[in-house]
Amino acid sequence: MSVKVRFAPSPTGYLHAGNVRTAIVTWLFTRNQNGHFLLRIDDTDIARSKPEYEEDIESALMWLGITWDEKARQRDRSARYAELIEKLKRDGRLYPCYETPEELSLKRKTLLSRGLPPIYDRAALELTETQKTKYEGENRVPHWRFKLEHTPIIWNDLVRGEVKFDGATMSDPVLLREDGTPLYHLCSVIDDMDYDITHVVRGEDHVSNTAAHIQMFEALGAPVPQFAHLPMISDKEGGKLSKRLGSMSARDFRDSEKLEPMAIVSLLARLGSADPIMPFTEMQPLIDEFDISKFSKGAPKFDMEELLRLNQKIIHQTPFEDVNVRLAQMDMETLDESFWIAVRPNLTRLEDIREWWNVVNNPVETTINDPDFITQAAGLLPPEPWDETTWKLWTDKVKENTGRKGKDLFMPLRQALTGMDHGPELGVILPLLGAEKTRRRLTKQKQAA
Ligand code: GLU
Repeated sequence: MSVKVRFAPSPTGYLHAGNVRTAIVTWLFTRNQNGHFLLRIDDTDIARSKPEYEEDIESALMWLGITWDEKARQRDRSARYAELIEKLKRDGRLYPCYETPEELSLKRKTLLSRGLPPIYDRAALELTETQKTKYEGENRVPHWRFKLEHTPIIWNDLVRGEVKFDGATMSDPVLLREDGTPLYHLCSVIDDMDYDITHVVRGEDHVSNTAAHIQMFEALGAPVPQFAHLPMISDKEGGKLSKRLGSMSARDFRDSEKLEPMAIVSLLARLGSADPIMPFTEMQPLIDEFDISKFSKGAPKFDMEELLRLNQKIIHQTPFEDVNVRLAQMDMETLDESFWIAVRPNLTRLEDIREWWNVVNNPVETTINDPDFITQAAGLLPPEPWDETTWKLWTDKVKENTGRKGKDLFMPLRQALTGMDHGPELGVILPLLGAEKTRRRLTKQKQAA
C-alpha cells in the first residue's frame, strides 16, 4: 500500500511555528516513504478563513521548500459531506440536540460541582417525538452529536506508542452546527477517507479528537489510518511557548527575522527527535535519515539562539551563486564573489552584510582626531596586492614606528577608515577597500562612493 499523507492547516491566520513544524515533519515522513503529500485547506470556518491566509500558507511552504502533490479545499466538498451526514443520521449515529449553550453550561457546572467529569448526559437521546416537535415549535434548531460506542478505543501511535481511551468516558462530539454546517471533525474524517490517507501526522492537541475520529471512520466503513501525534514545543525553560514565539509565523521568520529557510527546516525537522540537530543546506539527507520512531513524547524546547546559530552556519557554507540574486534585490548588485567569501564568515544573517557593504562602498563620515599619527600611518601602507594579511603587516609596522599599541593604535585607524568606533573586522575590510580608497580616507580626501 502506498503512503498518502496530508498537511491540513486552517487558513484563519498566518502559518505559525507549531504548524510549520507539523508541515516539515509530515513532509519529511512522506518523502522518506516515497509517498504522496496532500495540502488540505481546512476552511470550514467560513467566517474566520481568509484567502490571504491561504496564500500565506502556500508561499510559506514554498519558501521552506515543502512541495505538495495535490491540493484540496474543504469548502469545495460540502455536497459530499451532506451525503455522508445523511448516512450517519439514517444509521442513528448522528442525533439532534436542542440544548442551548446556557443549558449545556449549567449541566457542566452541576457535574463539576459534584466532582464528576463534565460528560454530556445524552438527554437528547431520551427525547420523545412529541418533545422534539414542541422544541421545533419553539423555534429551537438542533445541533447534532455523534453517538460514540461505549467501548475501549486503542491505537498504536507512531510517536506515543499504545494510546487508550474509553468511549464511555467521552462526550459525544458535536458534528453539525445549528445552521447545519459540519464541524472540522466530520470533514476531516470524510476527507481522510476519500483521499485514502494512510497516515495522519499532527500535534498532540488532537489526541482526544483522534479517539472520536477512529469511531467515525468505523461508522463510515472506512479503514482507520495510522496516527503520529507530535508533542507541543515548549520554550527554553520548558514552559508553554511564549506568546511571542508561539504566535511567530513563517512570514516573521522570513520577513522580520530574515532567516534562511533551511535554518528553520534544520531545527524543526529534528526538534524532539533522537537525531542530532545540525545545519543542513539541502533536504535530501534529512529525508534519507528521517524516522518518525525517533521522536519522543516529551515536549522539546525551542531556543531562538539555536536557530540563529544554525542560520549562521548555513550562511557560512552558502556559495555566492545561491545568494547573488537576493543581494541584488537588496541593492547590492555589484557585490562580487570575493567580497562574499571575505565577509561571509562574519555574518549571522544575510542582512548583516549590508553594514560591511556600506563601510566599504558608501562615503563615510570619517573622523581624524590625531592627524599626525594618521599621516604617519598612511605613509607606512604596504604596497599592493593586498589580502587578509595586510592589516596585520601594516599595523605591526605602524606599531614599530610610532610606539603605539592596543586601543591607541587601532581606534584612530578604525575611526579614520570607517567613521565608527565599532564595526566590521578591519583585517577583512582593508583588502576590500583597496589601497587607493584607504589612502583617500586616511588623507581625508573627498571620496567617491
Ligand atoms: N485544521 C486542523 C488544525 O489545523 C487540522 C488538524 C489535523 O491535522 O487533522 O489543527
